[in-house]
Parts: sequence; structure tokens; C-alpha cells
Amino acid sequence: YSYYNENTILYFDGEYAKAAEAKIDLYGQSLHYGYAVFEGIRAYKTEKGEVKIFKAEEHFDRFKRSCELIHIPYKYNNEELIKACYKVLELNNMEEAYIRPLVFCPPNMTLKAASESHILICAWEWGAYLGEKLLRVMTSSYQRPNPKAFQIESKSAGLYINSILASQEAKEKGYDEALLLDMNGNVAEGPGANIFFEKNGKLYTPPRGHILPGITRATVIELCHELGIPLEEKLFTLDELKQAESVFYCGTAAEIIGWDSLDGQTFSKPFSESLGKVLQQAYKARVLEKEFKREAKVA
Ligand code: PMP
Repeated sequence: YSYYNENTILYFDGEYAKAAEAKIDLYGQSLHYGYAVFEGIRAYKTEKGEVKIFKAEEHFDRFKRSCELIHIPYKYNNEELIKACYKVLELNNMEEAYIRPLVFCPPNMTLKAASESHILICAWEWGAYLGEKLLRVMTSSYQRPNPKAFQIESKSAGLYINSILASQEAKEKGYDEALLLDMNGNVAEGPGANIFFEKNGKLYTPPRGHILPGITRATVIELCHELGIPLEEKLFTLDELKQAESVFYCGTAAEIIGWDSLDGQTFSKPFSESLGKVLQQAYKARVLEKEFKREAKVA
């Protein structure tokens, strides 16, 4: 997959530069220690034909907080960064795209917090990250990091080694994606997505504490309130999850994607008849700024 070509423009410390020509210092603290913070945002072409970045404010609020949690200087405001995102899309003639802001730190081989940082914002065209087919998921042998060992709510680059290990393990074993438990054995999240399950007309999702607070998770919760779908945030075990009627992952890159099975065991309700399907359609409508009417027959 090629993320850029010789014409691609990105935003780098207040300027617009060619991706192929921009340079970073190979002695950077971020490169050596994974000490950086990123975001993943999507832009959609709405029903009216406008290019709109979905929940831009929420993503940049999290971006700032992610930096603050791990003491990376953050000297930007949402307005300028959102403007830069739209400009990057425009300069690259992109309408539907995935936008990747990254704050990273200059050379410093000590383990002191950075006193300076850089920012880049790039974008590329990216289809559904986990595909459109229902996912065959495997319980990972890796746990999510202990929140006492890390700022788990910070979307920090280094934390993603955990995600890479879990995803890679699942793929090596012939699955599509991994599911990670937390340090106490409760279900936490996917390598790059939050989880919901359905049981007896209600949805369940793990509370904050051991997970990345997903913007899509927040949108799903919002949509549940709007559509009158009962929802509870609670801790649950793998055994409980295996009794679910249906399960889905959600995230900016993945959007909403149903599960086929967990560790080879399928679920009792076809995804197409699940609350997850209703939410998948409602989410799509929301990002495209379309009106959504729930079909009476579904779920
Ligand atoms: N959990 C993890 C570990 C993630 O990397 C992501 C993707 N950012 C999510 C959940 C979903 O977050 P969001 O909906 O904000 O993309």
C-alpha cells in the first residue's frame, strides 16, 4: 500500500510540504522510544456533496489530552489544526480520506519528558480498515497494558506495539483480528477498535478504565440514546461474551463491523438482524449527514 506519492502534500509544523521531501531527525526521541501521539480521523463526502471531517473537535480534544497525559508539549489549538486538515485534503484533492495527525519529539536520548515537539498531518485514501466481511476473531494471548504501567487513555505510538503483536498473532493463526482482555481477565477491546455485544435486546460495552476512549464508541452510545436502544457500560468476561447473540467492533478506521465468530464459535443471531446492523446503518447515515430511519422489521 502506498500512502503517498511524489505529489502528496502534508502539513508539517505550520507549513505545507511535499511528503516525499519532508525530513525528520533520525535521532528523535519519538523514533527511538515510541514517544509520540497520534490520531485517526475520517473525512466523508456528505449527502450534500460537502467534504466534512467527522467529529474533528472530539479527535483534537483527545489528541491534546493524549499529549498532556504523557507530557509531550502541545502548543496547538483545534481551530488551526482542523483548518490544516481541510487544507491537506484540498491540496491533495481528497474527499473521503483517513487523516493522521502525529505529534513527535526532537532528539533526546535521556528519558526526560520532551520540552519541544513537532506536528504533522497527513491523509490517505483508506477503505474499511477491517474490510466489510464479518470478522473471525481470536482471543489474544496478549493482554492490554496495565493502566498502572501506562497512560492507557493516551493514544501514544509506543502503546501500539501491543496492538501490532495481537493483530499479527491473530493473522498468523488464520483469524481476521484479535480481541484483548485486560489485566484482570475482563474483555477490553481490539487492537484498534472498541467492542459491543448484544444480549436480550440490550447492548453492552466495557466502561472506561482499561480501554482507549473511542470517538466511535461515544458516537455509538449517542446513537443508542437517540434510537432508544438500551445500553450498559459494564465489565464482562470472555465466557459472558461467548453467550452474546451478536458482537461488533467500532472505530474510526473500521467504522462498525460485525463479528462472525470468536475462537471459531459463531453467535446465535445473524449480524444482519442485530442491533449492530441498525447501528452500522445509523453510523453511516450520521457521518454522511443523512437522515436515518430505523426499519421497523430490523431487530
Ligand atoms: N481502541 C484502540 C486501541 C484504538 O486504537 C482505536 C482506534 N483509534 C479505538 C479503540 C477506536 O477509537 P476511535 O473510535 O476513536 O477511532
